Amino acid sequence: MKKSDSLFVAVAGAGTVGGEVLRLLHQNADLIAARCGRRAEVCAVGVRNAEKARAQFPEYADLVVQGWEKAAKHPKAEIVLELMGGETEARACIQTALADGKAVVTANKALLAADGGAVFAAANAAKKPVAFEAAVAGCIPIVKILRESLAADKITEITGIINGTCNYITSAMDRGMAFCDALADAQKLGYAEADPSLDIDGDDAAHKIALISRLAFNARPAIGSFPVEGVRGFNLADIKYAAQFNFSIKLLANAHYDGRRVSLSVRPTLVSKKHPISAVDNSMNAVLVKSVFSGETMYYGAGAGGAPTAVAVVGDLIDIARKNCALFMPSDSAPPPITPAAKLRAPYFMRLRVLDRPGVLAKITGILAAENISIEAMHQNEAAPGCKVDIIILLHETARGYLDAAVHKIEQSDAVFGAAAVFPIRRFGRQ
Ligand code: NAP
Repeated sequence: MKKSDSLFVAVAGAGTVGGEVLRLLHQNADLIAARCGRRAEVCAVGVRNAEKARAQFPEYADLVVQGWEKAAKHPKAEIVLELMGGETEARACIQTALADGKAVVTANKALLAADGGAVFAAANAAKKPVAFEAAVAGCIPIVKILRESLAADKITEITGIINGTCNYITSAMDRGMAFCDALADAQKLGYAEADPSLDIDGDDAAHKIALISRLAFNARPAIGSFPVEGVRGFNLADIKYAAQFNFSIKLLANAHYDGRRVSLSVRPTLVSKKHPISAVDNSMNAVLVKSVFSGETMYYGAGAGGAPTAVAVVGDLIDIARKNCALFMPSDSAPPPITPAAKLRAPYFMRLRVLDRPGVLAKITGILAAENISIEAMHQNEAAPGCKVDIIILLHETARGYLDAAVHKIEQSDAVFGAAAVFPIRRFGRQ
């Protein structure tokens, strides 16, 4: 390979992901060169604080520059890797690089979910790709699967465990650990940030499912246009009650297309312990895709972490070098509308704390019946008469709007104490 065959790469951001990208580029340089057909040469590493020691990538320490601008505009760079995170500066970095004629690879799901339209319009205008495999589910190659492997088929649904922090927490709780301890453990192990809000409130999963639905269904869901719940303040009792019915509780992100509308949600969801998605443990991710000809396919792997995410970033870089980097599946139809939250349908699990006395159950079932919601099963643990006890009700499929109305009336009545815990149940075809 001649020196003139170099592929010059500028990196903006060298933290958890960027640092591992640099380590990978160095450690696997020969392998990457063979697969690219050109030798990837780093020409600049833009960071926020150029004074900080960079023990992770001593080979590139001399290339560290202050700020993203020198990387995005580096005269030699053909490809810019945006690995800073955040929105404003990341958008500026990507747009500057594109305007300067460079291809871009990014791991930034928050930016693409919030403002993908502007980013992809800039890419189209510049006739340069913005590749983003690393933005969804780390090293699970779901973008390539949707864009390439399943491109011939109509996708009907995508369901995923796509936030490793939440999955770590629900898995630890499944083994009996309280929420606070599970979160503290996730932070100690580096799965959760010091401020874990983006993960545990479901926003990170929402960004990813929004991006996936754009790929799969040509949808353009605004963040805030579909229901998002996380696992904050999750109750150990609910995990135990769900287990009595042979369910696990997982934070599932879902996007479903019925041929007219796209329905999206991120919610803690009961899944049968017999389904493989229930066995996705600790910080691992899984994405299940349903399509008409191929049926169900499921993909499993590390959804985050510097090293797995770096593999996705450099995989995109290799694709760009090979000129295999179409942005989206072309679509000649307008984006489908998004189903309003109140119309999303599912069967539900409901836990209520009640006083064990005559008439209470009749009141609750009466309120449910008035909203046209029927009961599939009911369970109450032993309790002394007149004492507080939890009752669990499994509800047949209903629209979320009816359920919310019923829950509101139940909570206002004198039949229950505190708030109801309500989770959708997801039954997969093979169960
Ligand atoms: P991080 O560890 O916080 O690293 C951010 C890097 O960006 C740091 O090197 C920082 O510089 C640099 N930076 C920040 N502002 C900058 C600016 N204005 N100019 C130049 N450099 C700047 O973040 P990360 O975890 O690697 O995440 C990076 C991106 O990857 C995010 O979009 C994230 O959502 C995405 N992602 C992360 C993971 C993961 O497991 N961490 C997985 C998938 C996707 P200093 O080093 O000087 O502070």
